[in-house]
Amino acid sequence: DICYLNGEFLPLERACISPMDRGFLFGDGAYEVVPVYGGRPFRLPAHLRRLDQTLAGIRLPNPHTHEHWTRLIHELLAAGRWRDAGVYLQITRGVPEQRDHAFPEGTRPTVFMTASPLPTPMPPDSEQGKSAVRLQDNRWGRCDLKTVALLPNVLLRQQAVEAGADEALLLRDGQLTEGAASNAFVVCENRVKTPLQGPGLLPGVTRDFVVELLRDHGVACECTTISAEELARADEIWLTSSTKELLPVTRLDGEPVGDGRPGPMWRRTRAWFDEHKAAWAAG
Ligand code: PLP
Repeated sequence: DICYLNGEFLPLERACISPMDRGFLFGDGAYEVVPVYGGRPFRLPAHLRRLDQTLAGIRLPNPHTHEHWTRLIHELLAAGRWRDAGVYLQITRGVPEQRDHAFPEGTRPTVFMTASPLPTPMPPDSEQGKSAVRLQDNRWGRCDLKTVALLPNVLLRQQAVEAGADEALLLRDGQLTEGAASNAFVVCENRVKTPLQGPGLLPGVTRDFVVELLRDHGVACECTTISAEELARADEIWLTSSTKELLPVTRLDGEPVGDGRPGPMWRRTRAWFDEHKAAWAAG
């Protein structure tokens, strides 16, 4: 596979990054994952705006303009002949001479990009959903930044997997924030809700897209607080992310969600999602 590293397109197995890179030493960097359908990056301006927010939040100047990023992404897609893919891009604070926590002076950021196949989405007529467990959100205070320092997310996801579940749904002060690598929606008595945006969760591009899709089809979505109890008695729970798209959770802490099958609101929304995606891929 072809990747991009610091101005060069090269085979992934030939890409070398110094062990002194601050991404490796400190997790000092930002990343994005952009889904691509039919060769066209989906919601790229929103991903690039969020990248700007993350970089501003960690005080790392963006090495490229949006136009430049867009060009690089298209070159990467062309080099790998990608039609449907997830583009991963990462920027770290570069390679200092010495390991020191404070920002180094005069280092160039490391810029890396690669593409990989997207998992096949679950069809709307699917009978099986995903499982989740509720866990304490023990991450830091800036979960709105998409940084490569993902150890807490890694440990939470692993705890979920060891409990036999696919995803962890995180609770801070008794309120739902998000999944270990996804945003969450609930449907309670025909009302669709998702946690209010703030420093406690990532402003998901797919989350915003699903909120828009619902509104376009006349379904209101409340951005509000969701308690651990509301989550436990929800009729439906959904997960969203750029690679997962829109998935139903049918088991929470080992108990069925609703009747234990993907719910009717998920089926409708999934169908709207697919329609929009197909139109986008067709150009
Ligand atoms: N929340 C977390 C912690 C994530 O890691 C992700 C993406 O992987 C999301 C939410 C979903 O964000 P997006 O829809 O922009 O991919």
